[in-house]
This record gives sequence, structure tokens and C-alpha cells, in this order.
Amino acid sequence: MPLLAVNHHYFRASSTGQGIYPITPDALISEIALLRSRWRIGGEADILQFCHGGGTTEAVCILTFDDGLKEQMQTLALLDKLGVTAMYFAPTAPLLKREVLDVHKLHMIRERLSDAELAADLQLRFNFRAHVFDEQLLSIQYRYDEPLSRKVKYFLNFVLDPVARLEWTSQRFVEIFGSEQAASEALYMSAEDLRVLAGRHLLGTHAHAHLPLATLSATHARQEIEQSLDVLENLSGQRPVGISYPFGGQSAVSASVFETAKELGLQYGFTMERGFNADSDRYPMALKRIDVNDVKAWVDITPALSSK
Ligand SMILES: [Zn+2]
Repeated sequence: MPLLAVNHHYFRASSTGQGIYPITPDALISEIALLRSRWRIGGEADILQFCHGGGTTEAVCILTFDDGLKEQMQTLALLDKLGVTAMYFAPTAPLLKREVLDVHKLHMIRERLSDAELAADLQLRFNFRAHVFDEQLLSIQYRYDEPLSRKVKYFLNFVLDPVARLEWTSQRFVEIFGSEQAASEALYMSAEDLRVLAGRHLLGTHAHAHLPLATLSATHARQEIEQSLDVLENLSGQRPVGISYPFGGQSAVSASVFETAKELGLQYGFTMERGFNADSDRYPMALKRIDVNDVKAWVDITPALSSK
């Protein structure tokens, strides 16, 4: 049975149009209607069945939510009402340290400050305008963004060295939001939320501190996965069998990361390599996945895989 996975992050009633791009309840309802016109929406049992090569020829779609965001708990009632299910992949550092992950600090800052304000600030501190950007690369990597937004994102993510970026985001974050602990508690799932998800077999790991695992030493990458499994097991009472690799793109995963995840007892892993998982092309530790923004395009180009 072929398997399509669709990833989501934020779930909010509305979007401010910058920094954070949530799926709204109405958009999720429409997405599910569209997906259901072609595929059965399944759960973890279906992922495991696909990975072990069993099952029918029926095509299955899996909805995933990354990052362990508290607002995702509100999808449960909606999905229950629609008679479908999803998988939720949580990073564990925010729970232990009550911190906000760097990636989310950036989203939150970008939601409050315009790209022009950010560019001016980065100019003052890091001479942003002197950098020569590869416009073609930017247009591919950030195809949903405006030209200045692409540059700001690329500069923050890839031009600034990690130490400077961390210092900059931490300073800006505290100036705008104050206490990191309060922001963390509002943003991420609680231990109780994790217990609810685990009790329904909807919980997987997103590793510990949301780092691109392939860029770490083998020992560090192993620690990131193992620690997250220990924390989730302690907090929720169940050890997850699936992982969604942080970032998940080509530079964030590797054959060695997949092998490590498998050695640690995980049975499947989601990347962000775009695509459909066919039976003939089945890599349980490196499952392809698409972004919710691309659902319409994928539905259009995969008619042959329709189960109806
Ligand atoms: Zn993530």
C-alpha cells in the first residue's frame, strides 16, 4: 500500500501573515476533505503496516504535526469529529528546560517585526546589505516568500554563524517577549498533553533539542534521539516507536542518522524529502513527506495512486 504523509506545524484560528503560518480549522477541514477524496486517512498502525510490507493495496495518507506545540492539542477534538487521526512528534528539551527552541524564537520574532525592521537591525549589527545572495537559490528554497523575506530568512539561517544567531535571537526574544519560561509553557505541550497523546498511540519523538542531526557527531546525534525517547517514556509512560527528524531536509538527515534511529529501537522515521512512499521504494527509517502547503499540487500529480 502506498503511503502519503502530510506535515503541519502551527494550528491557529487566524494568521498574522508574517513569521508564523498556521493552518486554520477551516483549512484543515478542507484539506481533510480533499485528501479523503483520494486516500484513507490512517494512523500509526498503518505506518507500521506499510513499513513491514504488509497490508492491502489501498493508499493511505498520514497527517503529522511536528514540534510538540500546545495549540496542536486543539486538533484532537476536530479530528475526532471528522473521524480521522494524526501523529504528533514532540521535541523534549522545551519540557525539561522550559526554554523556547531557537527555531520558534525566530518565528515569534518574525511575527512581531517586519522584514524591513529585521533587515535594518541585521544591517546595524552584521552588515546584512553587503552580503551577495544567490537569488535563484532563494527563489527555490523560499518559494512562498517575498524577496526581502527570503534574504532575511537565508541570512539568519545560513549566513550568520550559529553562535551569533543564537545571541541575536535570544536578545531580541527577551526584549519582545520577556520571560522565556512563560513563553515556553504557553507554546509547548505539557507532560499531561503528552500522556493524552501517548495513551492514544499518537505520540512520536522529534528528538531532544531540535538540532539537524546529520550535522552533529555520531555520539551527539545518538544522545539527541535516546534522551528524547527516555524523556517521553518517563513523562508519558510509553516509549515512542517513530521519529520525525528535526528540519528533516537533505542537510539534516543521513544514512548514519537513520541507522542510529533504528538501533535505538525506532521502527519508522519521517524526513522532509518531498514525495510519496511506494511499496517498491520503501525505506521505513527515511519516509518521504510533503508539506501541507503542497497538498493540492500532490493530489493533482498523483491520480494513479488513488485508492478510489
Ligand atoms: Zn520541527
